[in-house]
Amino acid sequence: MNEPTSLHPAVEVALDEHPLMSADIERIIKAVDDRFDEQVAFLTQLVRAASLRGDEAGVQKIVSSALEERGYDVRSFAIDPARIGKDPAFSPTGFELKDSTIVVGSKPSPLDRGRSLALNAHVDVVPVGASARWRYEPYSATREGDWLYGRGAGDMKAGLAANLFALDALSAAGFDLKGAVQFQSVIEEETTGNGAAMVLAQGFRADAVLISEPTDEKLVRANTGVMKFAVTVQGVPAHPFEVAIGRSAIDVAIRTIEHLRQLEQEWIAERPIAQPDFAGVDNPIALTIGTISGGEWLASVPSECRFEGRIGFYPGDVAEARAVKFESYLRNAFLSDPQLKGCSEPEIEWVGVKQGGYVLAPGSDAEALLAKAHTLANNSERELQCFVMPCYLDAAVFALHGGMTSLVYGPVAEHIHAVDERVNLPSLLRVTKAIALFAAAWCGVEARAEQVKL
Ligand SMILES: [Zn+2]
Repeated sequence: MNEPTSLHPAVEVALDEHPLMSADIERIIKAVDDRFDEQVAFLTQLVRAASLRGDEAGVQKIVSSALEERGYDVRSFAIDPARIGKDPAFSPTGFELKDSTIVVGSKPSPLDRGRSLALNAHVDVVPVGASARWRYEPYSATREGDWLYGRGAGDMKAGLAANLFALDALSAAGFDLKGAVQFQSVIEEETTGNGAAMVLAQGFRADAVLISEPTDEKLVRANTGVMKFAVTVQGVPAHPFEVAIGRSAIDVAIRTIEHLRQLEQEWIAERPIAQPDFAGVDNPIALTIGTISGGEWLASVPSECRFEGRIGFYPGDVAEARAVKFESYLRNAFLSDPQLKGCSEPEIEWVGVKQGGYVLAPGSDAEALLAKAHTLANNSERELQCFVMPCYLDAAVFALHGGMTSLVYGPVAEHIHAVDERVNLPSLLRVTKAIALFAAAWCGVEARAEQVKL
């Protein structure tokens, strides 16, 4: 049964002589409720602004205008390619970004007595795949009942809208934050993580960062490191009438992938020793071959084949060291496997994220306050749960290279990176409330005297 909101207990705020009281909490929750239709309309606008890699300018313009209207100090900047290969926060990349920028809106606190907070989201999305298989056109942002469909709706434009409207609600409820806030809208999360790296390179830091990725309203305890690779193998081209003298590069690629599957098993097997957090995850390494192309003509023995993919590894390991292991494993396979005998060495390129994993150490103030905020946003009926994510998250960049407490927590979404991606709107409402309450508790709030009587 839902308890009346007036029974919300006060939230203890460590740095604050003035804890968040029941009336404050109710006012913040109501301010989120009051703006939720507007929030969904904003999310719809974001989803309709398709933003595949390299094409984020349109959506970033919507975001920067929204921030300017709200009085943020807005900065837009591009990823500096000169940092790739020099700054360890940056990952390799196999492409050039032209008009894509990162947008950061800042609000220094006039009070400047609380902890600072960055709210982060990425706007880049992955391709829609077979659009004919979607229930609705992938960028139509169609609402059906409690769900909003669309590529990027869940991953993670809903989170971006939650960040913005959570801060709006605090202001509308008549509160100033005691600590400074940053609103970060980054690019390149899906490929390299260099958007988040560039935010750090520009000097943006905060006492904590919250990234509202779609996590089913759970907090990420740890993620895996990830490396993205491309492997090119060579065959011996031949006409079918003398097929015996040829060697198919596609067959060589298939055999190479079988070796990588063995490597995956070896890395999975490391889990019981060092990684209790990952005990419940079926496959934390998750070798994925995402693309493959090879051959030149349907009736010729193919001369070349290239495949791209990603592989994970456990937090605590340095990406560069894992990359060396990966490369030497493959080279050894080419030397020792009779089926690959005589083949030239595979060419291995690193073409995207090459980043370690992180663990959010239990017991932080930030986690404790988010847990309270989550429970309050759920009418005191649900406790915050944690889980591990065997994939790349920008939180790794902030945690490993910025030394920041990094929280990843966001709404329920389904079919992200797949067909019929959708986000659950009641969940988005709860998450927006939780983020607003968390920001209030973390930074501390002070009622603006002219608007609010305590
Ligand atoms: Zn995402």
